[in-house]
Amino acid sequence: MCGIVGYIGHRDAYPIIIKGLQRLEYRGYDSAGVALYDGTDINLAKTKGKVEELKGKAESSISLNGNLGIGHTRWATHGVPNDVNSHPHYSNSGNLVIIHNGIIENYESIKKELIKRGYSFSSDTDTEVLVNLIEEVQKTEDVKLGKAVQIALNQVVGAYAIAVFDRKKPDEIVVAKLGSPLAIGVGDDEFFIASDASPFIEFTNNAVYLEDEEMAIVRLGKEIKLRKIKDDAIAYPNIMELQMNLEEIEKGGYDHFMLKEIYEQPRAILDTYRGRLLADKGIIKMAGIDQHLEKFTNANRIVIVACGTSWHAGLVAEYIFENLARIPVEVEYASEFRYRNPVITDKDVLIAISQSGETADTLAAIKLAKEKGAFVFGVCNVVGSSIARETHAGAYTHAGPEIGVASTKAFTTQITVLTLIALKLAKEKGKLSKTEFHEYLSELENIPGKVEKALESNPLIEIIADVYKDSTNCLYLGRGYNFPVALEGALKLKEISYIHAEGYPAAEMKHGPIALIDEQMPVIVIATKKGHYEKVVSNIQEIKSRSGKIIAIVTEGDKQVKDLADHVVEVPETIESLTPLLTTIPLQLLSYHIAVMRDCNVDQPRNLAKSVTVE
Ligand code: GLU
Repeated sequence: MCGIVGYIGHRDAYPIIIKGLQRLEYRGYDSAGVALYDGTDINLAKTKGKVEELKGKAESSISLNGNLGIGHTRWATHGVPNDVNSHPHYSNSGNLVIIHNGIIENYESIKKELIKRGYSFSSDTDTEVLVNLIEEVQKTEDVKLGKAVQIALNQVVGAYAIAVFDRKKPDEIVVAKLGSPLAIGVGDDEFFIASDASPFIEFTNNAVYLEDEEMAIVRLGKEIKLRKIKDDAIAYPNIMELQMNLEEIEKGGYDHFMLKEIYEQPRAILDTYRGRLLADKGIIKMAGIDQHLEKFTNANRIVIVACGTSWHAGLVAEYIFENLARIPVEVEYASEFRYRNPVITDKDVLIAISQSGETADTLAAIKLAKEKGAFVFGVCNVVGSSIARETHAGAYTHAGPEIGVASTKAFTTQITVLTLIALKLAKEKGKLSKTEFHEYLSELENIPGKVEKALESNPLIEIIADVYKDSTNCLYLGRGYNFPVALEGALKLKEISYIHAEGYPAAEMKHGPIALIDEQMPVIVIATKKGHYEKVVSNIQEIKSRSGKIIAIVTEGDKQVKDLADHVVEVPETIESLTPLLTTIPLQLLSYHIAVMRDCNVDQPRNLAKSVTVE
């Protein structure tokens, strides 16, 4: 979720690193740093803020000489964005310096052990723990840096792309990858390291993409050799010739950030529950809830405030909280809540949801609820954002930066966080049996794979999009957990394709919208097997009798709806309350393809802004 860059060779490292970081800024931009080896010592500059600020600081405070260096643009997961938490991080001796993209889940226990052994820490990051673990292994096992990195990585749980070098051996950089991307650009006796190829594309077209659980020692005068982190097996690198241009590389080969972010969802959902969902131990660990458990279990009710897509995630959460944890929930538009003198007491818990953590109305709602004595919990994506600071506690979604204005992975990761909270409270309140709880945990672990499967419908959705791209209106219907998904589907279509769309609870159709249905009207119906399936089938019959066109989102293997609908898109089967995580995928893809076919600016739709910081 951050950008990393490194260079070793015959050129000045600093300009390559700074320019590279600027190109990687889409991956994270809350702080940045650089460490350069000038022939005798390491010079390091880092700061909260954008790469531009780093540039100012580095150029006025350190020597910029050197042909070896590493740089980082951070998207904080552990510790607020500030100067000290920025990367690179030194080990205690000052010899090792590291940059890291990812999360070390078991950093707390390793940190405790290292403190016992005399180590001290200046930052709150998991990364500083890792570099000191490497140093400790180097010392106790008396091994070279590469081996120390390998032994240390076998002790950590989590995700990483790292680059580390040793002041005492400045002819090599050690890199490793698990779960976060890492590419090595191979030049003429020079190597580039980066999260994607954009920082080095102008210097070389030859690149090696590390696979998960691989590491490499990038050494001057030597060919790269890859090693498996687990068993030491040596692999020969597949040096690829890159054909892409810069813009394509930044978007990871996708045409738009929105599409890239849609496809990132399996990984983003995994990152959201990583370290929190411990299925083998049968627990959900969330510091923000654990420390305030009684506030939740004793609450009279939970009030969820949000805007736009986050409000839809709140509606899904209402169904989940009430069904699983049996806590009454109300979901409010933040903009209404803040101005309507709501009845709020110190027995209420307010959950505020916002991708950016900067939404003005949601912030105002938080302040109001705090004044009235409520306990306020934030769910946002951007670490250290205003909402994260204003709330009493919270949980980040860890979705990584969302650049496309139309929210996609923020929605599914918000639902994931809220589901974890609901499950935790359900267990605490004894509303779920042990077996049911376990079923949920293991099914949640299957969700990334099932989202992957749902994404396979992309070619079919493109065909459907082509049929309906010129529609002027569109209706989305769903029931139960999938009613908010219908709302979200309609919002996506409106936002990026400028087609008028409405989402409705399927049964409400009879109370008005059915009058709109004729042979011109596409109706997207979420008709998955669980819940109110038979009732939704009846709703489909009603639309068919009035010549409406049906695009149905169904459970894999469905036969009944297939016979009725004009088009069916299948998603894998799952527990009913988790279906929104799957049914929302085809709707995102449908709006995306229609917008592209209508020549709309998908990533920056007219009149919209990514985060609404005005009321
Ligand atoms: N976990 C690390 C941190 O919070 C790295 C985050 C990132 O990938 O930017 O500093």
